[in-house]
Amino acid sequence: MSSISAVARIAYLASDVLVNSQPPRPSSSTFTTTFEAVSWHNVHKPTLISLPSGADAGSVLLRHRNASLISYTTAAHSQVLNRLLPHLSELSALPLVLHIAVEDDLSDAFTLRSTLPFVLYSRTAEQAHDHALLASRLARDEKKAVLHLFNAASEDALREVDADKVQPFLLTDRKSRSQNGYTNGANGVNKTDGAIGVNGDSAETESSTQSALYKAYETAALTTVAFLRRPIRTYTRYGPFDTPTVILTVGSAHFDFEVEGVSFIELSLLNPIVPQQILNAIPPSATRVIVLEQLSRWQTKWTPIYLDVLSIVQNSEGDVRPIVQSGVYGDVNSVQVVDILKLLQQAASSSLSTRLHLGYDADASGVISSPAHVPKHEFAYLKLLNQLFGEHLEIANSPDLVQTQGELATSPEFALGRIRGELDARAQLLSAVQDLLRDEKVSPELHTLLTQWVHDKDDAAKSQQLSDQIVQLLEGGESARPAGQRVYQLRSHLPARSRWIIGSDAWSYDLGASGLHHAIASKLNVNILILDTTPYTARNASDPNRRKQDVGLYAMNHGDVYVASVAVYSSYSQVLQALAEADKFNGPSVVVAYLPYKSEDAPALDVLKETKMAVDAGYWPLYRWNPSKEQEGKEPFILDSDAIKNDLQRFLDRQSHLSQLVRSQPQLATELVSNLGDTLKQARKQKAQQSYAELLTAIDAPPLLVLYASDGGKAEKVAKRLATRGKLRGLSTNVSSMDSISLDDLQKEEFVAFVTSVAGQGEFPQNGRTLWKALSAAAARGERPLNYVRFSVFGMGDSHYWPRPEDAHYYNKAGKDLNARLEKLGAQRVVELGLGDDQDADGPETGYKLWEPQLWKVLGVDAVELHEAEPEPITNEHIKVASQYLRGTIVEGLEDQSTGALAPSDTQLTKFHGIYQQDDRDIRDERQAQGVEPAFSFMIRVRMPGGVCSPKQWLQMDQIADEHGCGTFKITTRQTFQFHGVIKRHLKTAIQDINRALLDTLAACGDVNRNVTVSAIPSLSKLHAQVYKFAGDVSTHLLPRTTAYHEIWLDKKLVAGEALKDVEPLYGEFYLPRKFKIAVAVPPHNDVDLFANDLGFIAIVDEKGQLAGFNVTAGGGMGVTHGNKKTYPRLGDVLGFCTVEQGKMIAEKIMLVQRDNGNRADRKNARLKYTIDRMGLENFKAEVEKLLGYKLQPARPFTFDRNVDDFGWTTGEDGKHHFTCFIENGRIQDESGKHFKTCLREIAKIHKGSFRMTTNQHLVITDIPTENLEEIKQLLVEYKLDNLSQTGLRLSSSACVAFPTCGLAMAESERYLPILIDKVEKICEKNGLRNDSIVMRMTGCPNGCARPYIAEVAFVGKALGTYSMLLGGGYYGQRLNKIYRDTVSEPEILAILEPMIKHYALERLDGEHFGDFVIRAGYIAPTTSGAAWWDRAGGEGIHREATA
Ligand code: SF4
Repeated sequence: MSSISAVARIAYLASDVLVNSQPPRPSSSTFTTTFEAVSWHNVHKPTLISLPSGADAGSVLLRHRNASLISYTTAAHSQVLNRLLPHLSELSALPLVLHIAVEDDLSDAFTLRSTLPFVLYSRTAEQAHDHALLASRLARDEKKAVLHLFNAASEDALREVDADKVQPFLLTDRKSRSQNGYTNGANGVNKTDGAIGVNGDSAETESSTQSALYKAYETAALTTVAFLRRPIRTYTRYGPFDTPTVILTVGSAHFDFEVEGVSFIELSLLNPIVPQQILNAIPPSATRVIVLEQLSRWQTKWTPIYLDVLSIVQNSEGDVRPIVQSGVYGDVNSVQVVDILKLLQQAASSSLSTRLHLGYDADASGVISSPAHVPKHEFAYLKLLNQLFGEHLEIANSPDLVQTQGELATSPEFALGRIRGELDARAQLLSAVQDLLRDEKVSPELHTLLTQWVHDKDDAAKSQQLSDQIVQLLEGGESARPAGQRVYQLRSHLPARSRWIIGSDAWSYDLGASGLHHAIASKLNVNILILDTTPYTARNASDPNRRKQDVGLYAMNHGDVYVASVAVYSSYSQVLQALAEADKFNGPSVVVAYLPYKSEDAPALDVLKETKMAVDAGYWPLYRWNPSKEQEGKEPFILDSDAIKNDLQRFLDRQSHLSQLVRSQPQLATELVSNLGDTLKQARKQKAQQSYAELLTAIDAPPLLVLYASDGGKAEKVAKRLATRGKLRGLSTNVSSMDSISLDDLQKEEFVAFVTSVAGQGEFPQNGRTLWKALSAAAARGERPLNYVRFSVFGMGDSHYWPRPEDAHYYNKAGKDLNARLEKLGAQRVVELGLGDDQDADGPETGYKLWEPQLWKVLGVDAVELHEAEPEPITNEHIKVASQYLRGTIVEGLEDQSTGALAPSDTQLTKFHGIYQQDDRDIRDERQAQGVEPAFSFMIRVRMPGGVCSPKQWLQMDQIADEHGCGTFKITTRQTFQFHGVIKRHLKTAIQDINRALLDTLAACGDVNRNVTVSAIPSLSKLHAQVYKFAGDVSTHLLPRTTAYHEIWLDKKLVAGEALKDVEPLYGEFYLPRKFKIAVAVPPHNDVDLFANDLGFIAIVDEKGQLAGFNVTAGGGMGVTHGNKKTYPRLGDVLGFCTVEQGKMIAEKIMLVQRDNGNRADRKNARLKYTIDRMGLENFKAEVEKLLGYKLQPARPFTFDRNVDDFGWTTGEDGKHHFTCFIENGRIQDESGKHFKTCLREIAKIHKGSFRMTTNQHLVITDIPTENLEEIKQLLVEYKLDNLSQTGLRLSSSACVAFPTCGLAMAESERYLPILIDKVEKICEKNGLRNDSIVMRMTGCPNGCARPYIAEVAFVGKALGTYSMLLGGGYYGQRLNKIYRDTVSEPEILAILEPMIKHYALERLDGEHFGDFVIRAGYIAPTTSGAAWWDRAGGEGIHREATA
């Protein structure tokens, strides 16, 4: 057992109040694990308080002075222990044990020693255990503090006391020597080893205080010894006895070897040090005593125990006294005999005042040599400060100062003192400047500069410039006069500075007494940035009884302080704004910044998710409070996030002028969050009551409750169908999701059928998790609340989803777990668990057909004959036809303020209008836990054939993203813009704004022809113009004709009489069976991945370079369902050649054949690719030609050579310039060091050409006239958007959006691929492939939005952190890849790629691409057609066996 666990256990069991300080990051407290473990098994539970590192533990301890025993645990660190110093004298009179774990340096802990009455040191874990008990007893009996220092590194076997005996031990009577029956010096007292044995011991004591303390110690020790039945020693001696040299060690040193002439003494009782004990320990033969203390950073000349020992020896009686020398040591692990001999030599040859060193070479008298550690996440804010204020930034408590000023330099008090000094100096400078200005002899040039300086002294840039000029003049002779000399002396204060103090949330404990309070109350012009790192999900774990104070509110209450609450992972621009405003504010500014992370190696993605949850839930509202605005007659408070904390709400309500603001802006109020939650809960309750009442009245038939848990909707459909069939059989049936019912209500049910699918790696689907947790908690408590419930479970899963044998238990895990858990809770299983497997002949229906009849039998309705037909389930086809040409109830839904969502059927229809309803997946669980609906928002996709927009349109898109979306926007794989995070009340305005920009969103999604994509080809301007026009014509020709879009979004009126006159000549009422995609490619560029589209046009150019027509392709498509072999990706086939004029009608006819032949019964089998395979290519072509009335010409030759973009500058035939920028995964945003959104906005303001998106999600700034070239180049350089030094791998990569917005995402994609590439590109670089292009793509699910199935290497999300890995796609999109491994996580990906990439680097043929190589080298088989995609998956030959 480790000493830390032993001490933590005793501290927990012994105390009433237990305070634990976290060590500074990156370490984490090792005590807490034991506290948690002990708390499980014991009745005794102290008040447990966990403090962040640097919090003022002393004041917390003092607040519990009335407890009978307080224990404090921490690791020895100056930042923690120094905060105890001011309180020590008060603490020493409390029943308190300070347990301090020491690594290999007692320097910090020894600063406490002199003030505390009792100090013990434990070297071994057993000693630590025993001393912990002794210390607790002593502190409790004497009502005095005991400092217990112990070796944090020790670990050994020990016999612990029983937990239930600790409290009684603390209350037993004291054992005194007389009670024990022994007196001083008699009866076997072992005076030579310092032991207080069960047989008693004593030592002579001298000074009265020391004597009284020692007696108290001795009494407690005797009581402990009697209890433990093993000795406790004040010192331990080892080695030969009568030696001339004694080494007395303090600390963890223990030498397992003998050194001739040397004996060793380990001291355990460090206060009180009783002379007789020391004198007893030193043998009479000793002529030299070396006091060796474990101090690496002791800063005064004499070490503490040495002084005590020296004084004892010098005051001892006797003629010959040994000489006493002081020595220090640090880590002694490697100390050998030879080192001790060297120490002895040092001792013999040095003067008595020289400090000796053992195993430690550093200068122990020096100050710390390494700067304080700054956790890596915190650089996010430091970078921002640097970025904003550059060389004018001054961090008054920068960790760099530690090297020269000691650790105190990082404290707020120190920093404030420093700033105060600087501001005073600046005030003196101002006065000196004014004196100089009054001097008539000052030169006019200097006079002008000084006057300007007085005016601009607070402007960073101007004051710096003036400073340089003024200093130059002063150095040139103008400083002769006294005022001039003063100015020159103070010249370093001429430039304005942005002064910041950076602190942690530890400062928010005991605000009133903190340095922070002084900074706020000082009214000085100082900026304070406080980083709060408590993760949202861990917010309740820290001190449950005492919330830390809200620094923001505290500062706001002072009235004249600028206050902002920010979170860099939520709103980057808001942080920038707040920091800039804080700097400008003339007075104290406090910016509280959220940066939640549990450990330093926490991935940035976790920080992001924690931030989002905190901001969304109102735990961390974003706001700015600027009192200077009030003087300008403006509103001082700006709320930057929707939800608002209760405390903040109360603060606002207190301010009368602000409460009006809250009323005038209803979105400020909490109703968005809490009221809605209440409403939902109420509605659920009502629904439950109503259902229950219905059950009671339906007395003729047994009631059946069907509960489902379903993510994708499959289990929900099965459950609803089951309920319908139950009703038809005369049962009183109800159906709802598992989470709609509480455990309390479930126990009242008589008969419950559960239907559940499975999510990720065996987890419950989202809408079943709350009930599942409640069931699990009840089972953990050993309860059996479901004694009256009869149940059966039907689980749905895919036995091939996790093909590795070790993962087999994930198959249908949710259903199996539920089945077992219900039984454990007392419910009676009436039908055995049914399992539906996607792999069965009839899918899950195979298992279902066996299960359902058994259910009817148990309910006694199996013989009921059904007369009514079962109602057909509602499908997308029903929704489309009933929608009145895409109207549905969208208008009504937009007006409904009670929810942020639209009706489910309308969400299918809005896709046709370019809108997807989504919810923030990162915070879905948290919102459910709060009882509120998911954070719904909408994604809007623009229709922009060919992906071209003007600079003016770009600026409008940029503004729309800021005003209506999440502040960023995305270039998509279909060459257009996509906005995320648009909430319902912004939806209509956003669409109107897009239309105002002469763009629209009609048919950007849905079962219609989507955005037509076109090769970006910047170098071929004329050809691009032709194909771009062609794409526009095709897109317009295939647009739906319904006026619903204009009516709903643009407020255009219905035709007269409100009668619907819509017709859809191409689509009809049912529209297409599935989406339809068209691309136009210009060889040799296949950047549009033409073969992945339902319909493709390959431009064919004649001898004169003119567009002659197109080769037509059909039947491409990407979407797959994991494990479902009826689904597959497919590449389009070339059908023939057509002229430009024929193209439009060919597009129409191909679409019509698909409209009439596509599979409308099964959306998974509805795309054109399946229609063609079902009809046969020749039949399909014949059908198209029949509609056309002519045959297509034979296809003409063409060659593609790449599908990646050509980055950088090109000049077109017309002399205009084009620049292709690398925008990683198409996200247009500002982030630290990459202000691409701002850059492109600035370019759009001056650009005279246009912007062209690429389907690889990058951007071409096109048609730049030569006269604008320099200006645009400068902007690209300034914002680093000209940087194309990325690796070939990164430039060829692409990811879909996935989390947090895509509702179908199973794994991360856009947020994760760049992180994975960081690692894979290192492998490439190591193998000399830095600039080699390897097409790597990732999607969050198998729908394939980023076209992963034609990448050379691809990853398709299966569950969080888990992907299918695919290999062997063609470099220019000509060949599908294939599944290489079904399930890989990051370590496996890297382990696979490392040797494979090396192999490629060593053995590739000249010009051979990675996708071709992996096939030639036998890693994977080539995919010859879409239908054969599943064949020979999982690697080939030796490579399959190697990983089998
Ligand atoms: S591939 Fe899947 S996860 Fe990615 S955006 Fe498309 S649907 Fe969403």
